[in-house]
Amino acid sequence: MEKFGVAHRAIGQGKQQLLGLFLARQCSLCQRSAPGPLCLSCERQIRQCQVPNPLDSSQAGLPVLSWGSYDGSLRQALRRLKYEHQTGLAAMLGHELGRTWLQHLARPAQGRQPVVVPIPLHATRLQQRGFNQAALIAQGFCRQTRLPHYPEGLQRVLATEAQHRLNRQQRQANLIQAFAVNPALVPRLRHTSVWLLDDIFTTGATAQAAAHALRKAGISVAGVCTVARAVAWEMASQPDRHRQQILTPQACQGAIAPS
Ligand SMILES: [Zn+2]
Repeated sequence: MEKFGVAHRAIGQGKQQLLGLFLARQCSLCQRSAPGPLCLSCERQIRQCQVPNPLDSSQAGLPVLSWGSYDGSLRQALRRLKYEHQTGLAAMLGHELGRTWLQHLARPAQGRQPVVVPIPLHATRLQQRGFNQAALIAQGFCRQTRLPHYPEGLQRVLATEAQHRLNRQQRQANLIQAFAVNPALVPRLRHTSVWLLDDIFTTGATAQAAAHALRKAGISVAGVCTVARAVAWEMASQPDRHRQQILTPQACQGAIAPS
């Protein structure tokens, strides 16, 4: 009987250890055990990248809201999300961006319904990566803001070469034909006001091209929300100086990453 009891306890402990193995999570940045996608220390470091003034109106006709600067731990987190499949980070980053949107841009219901359309990847890139980081971030954002999410609203119809080696004009020329609105969603989106959503804001060329495609289809664009931006922040709200203040590749080595 005692033997049975010992065996029973051993099986119970084994089960618990097995359960523990499944429940233990690793921090996406430092690999230490963590209660969520990040340990408390890495979460604190990412929060240090949050900027006090997230709004920027330097883009013609396209307000920009960004949660933090593309630097330090936030940059590391976005790279891990995209290139090492640490997709658990997307919900947390989307949630934080959503909170910032609610604080700065939520208005009492009037006019067109705000909706969210993530910047799409081209089908080839989507197949390579297996997910669109902007759409995953948008899920977290929409859970927080309760805005409708249209992950298929835009399509990337042209595969654009890696943008980080191009200057502003070359990027714009490369991107202007890259996006098309999903024809099945045009009638529905015409009654809304679209917030584009992306992981990183660099020169604004991608967001402007996506906004152009929506507006060409008769759809209103409210602005763009990004988790991070790679532009010198203190200059971002000064339109005249903005163009000169986009960080050079030397100044932010590796900061401008391909989508
Ligand atoms: Zn950590």
